[in-house]
Amino acid sequence: MLVREISCKTALSPSHLPGYDYALNPYRGCAHACVYCYAPAVLRERREWGSFVDVKINMPLVLANELRKKKRGVVGISTVTDAYQPIERKHEITRRCLEQLLKHDFPICIQTKSSLVLRDLDLIERFSQKEVGFTITTATDEDRRKYEPYSSPTEERLAALAELAARGIKTWAFIGPIMPFITEKNLEDLIEELSKARVGYVLVDKLRMKLGLWEKMKNFYSAHYPELQQSINEGYFQEIKNKIIALCEKHGLRCESLF
Ligand code: SF4
Repeated sequence: MLVREISCKTALSPSHLPGYDYALNPYRGCAHACVYCYAPAVLRERREWGSFVDVKINMPLVLANELRKKKRGVVGISTVTDAYQPIERKHEITRRCLEQLLKHDFPICIQTKSSLVLRDLDLIERFSQKEVGFTITTATDEDRRKYEPYSSPTEERLAALAELAARGIKTWAFIGPIMPFITEKNLEDLIEELSKARVGYVLVDKLRMKLGLWEKMKNFYSAHYPELQQSINEGYFQEIKNKIIALCEKHGLRCESLF
């Protein structure tokens, strides 16, 4: 893993994602190395995703200056990185950014795949408006290890969601992207576990074939699931989405879809 310390010019960038006014990404690159990651396409990053992390070392300071002038709005944390990837344990850039955001009580929405977020519960619970979401696309950790190799195990994510909910923090689970022929295995177990973890709601999205991803996914499926080489189309994702919606209803969970 190539780690560099870099300086950033801005901390909060305008966000067009639903529900967010700003995006905050304390790192460029992500050691979680999920096979389906869209971030390199969004950032037009040519370096191999998962092989480097740029640490935006001055971000807390830049953020402190921006917060004096910016209009209050919802800050989406981790839109093109994971703010709680392993290097955060040492550098604490996300934690120091949270300290700044808390001074101005900006609403925050954190999305992660790491239980390290629990370290910052002392700060998170002091915000007036806060949400934490975990991506969980399979109940089977053996599958998860193949396509999100360096993130927290499924069980840890579920335990973290349960702890956040127990501390009164609004939570959500992102079943996205639906991993063709993988997410559908043990789907009811997954929804049942999310219900037990008392997630506030479930968000679902299909796999979107952004620039360069098609080739990567094809290679991934032939290396790990050669038996699953079938064609997928829009109808497939609709069918899985409908199953997720029905299971959420059965287990008393609200479900929203991004497609
Ligand atoms: S955790 Fe998010 S940003 Fe990091 S590799 Fe996975 S999908 Fe990409």
